[in-house]
Amino acid sequence: MSLTKILEAHRPQFSSYEQLYKHFHLNPELSNQEVETAATIVAHLRKISPDFDIRSEIGGHGVAAVLRNGPGPTVLSRADMDALPVEERTGLAYSSTKRAVDVHGREQPVMHACGHDMHITCLLAYAELMVSARQHWRGTIVLVFQPAEERGTGAQSMVDDGLYDAARHNVPIPDVVFSGHVVPARAGVIGIRPGTMASSCDNLRVTFHGRGGHASMPERLVDPIVMASSAVLRLQTLVSREVHPSEHAVVTCASFMSGTAAENVVADDAIITIDMRANNQSTRQKLNDGVLRIVQAESAASNAVAPPTIVPTRSFPVTVNDAAVTARVGEAFREHFGAGDQSYVADFPRLSFSEDFCILATAVERPSLLFAYGCTAPDKVDKAQREGTLDESIPGNHSSIFAPQIHPTMQVGIDAYGASALAWLANDWVQ
Ligand SMILES: [Zn+2]
Ligand SMILES: [Zn+2]
Repeated sequence: MSLTKILEAHRPQFSSYEQLYKHFHLNPELSNQEVETAATIVAHLRKISPDFDIRSEIGGHGVAAVLRNGPGPTVLSRADMDALPVEERTGLAYSSTKRAVDVHGREQPVMHACGHDMHITCLLAYAELMVSARQHWRGTIVLVFQPAEERGTGAQSMVDDGLYDAARHNVPIPDVVFSGHVVPARAGVIGIRPGTMASSCDNLRVTFHGRGGHASMPERLVDPIVMASSAVLRLQTLVSREVHPSEHAVVTCASFMSGTAAENVVADDAIITIDMRANNQSTRQKLNDGVLRIVQAESAASNAVAPPTIVPTRSFPVTVNDAAVTARVGEAFREHFGAGDQSYVADFPRLSFSEDFCILATAVERPSLLFAYGCTAPDKVDKAQREGTLDESIPGNHSSIFAPQIHPTMQVGIDAYGASALAWLANDWVQ
């Protein structure tokens, strides 16, 4: 039977999943606080089938569910669950008005501004699809609902908490690991690429130590603002003057803090946060080394009272799509979605954001693949394309007006989880 026939015969009713998506959208939870989200997921899995072997509270609020269906490969598919401290301005009838206290003790608005609510919903619908389609496949499926993706810690904490350890959660080691992410491309588009699919990300918080005092007495001061400003400017030269022009690399100073609002008081310290992205390990290392060199040297050049305090805050690996897995899934996607720039795109542009799911694969030395699927209303994309305003007028992930169009985004997400898994598990699918 063709993959399309299996998917069409067993894809669950959209209406209940549309309701579920709106429920998740209305009830977002920040990283490491995904209590209700995890509970809703577990309850839904129990409703789908009593045969799911479910483990929860893995590495925080992570959930894993295993469904065994005879001998065969094991396919792990993952969705991330956390939302962001963003105030929703989409104007949707199901807009979030939730607030929560973040890790710094501050109350924040909370929004599913990265589409993880879509990921959860698609993975649950895939679970129902695979239960219904049981007679067409053999092997084991593992569903992983991962917490704290936005912090870059969730996948690692699930592994560290014994996701695969026989004596702990005992989830079978997968032969292949899949995940997907919504992107602001045209809804209906699904894309993969072999090799680097998403950049690495490394974040640092750097505190420069000067000597504060009266603004009128520079001879008594070591001005931390001038010190940090020099570092910010020199950091701009890392990408422009040190990285090969064909490499993808970004260094951004995302925040700069010093002093109060007083005009006549210079503070002791200035703090900057730095975001580094790279598409391979050697560029990543070069950026990390360069940032450390520059902040230390600028601090010394400014006669700082102490070397800068450097604290790593977040870290994501480079996401690399395994070549053989990409080829096999590519065949399945081509067969099911059909190739074309409004359907399956075989050489999808590399994603500039970062992901941590591949840790679920690299921790057990298994291959993985991340697929990207569009979620923007096609007429909006057409209009923006005509006007040449794709970057300005189409809100991206993390925007307060990021509002995925439910259809056909959801169907593409469900089918992508289904087709990628069935490319390994279907009884008689021949590549
Ligand atoms: Zn995100
Ligand atoms: Zn995300």
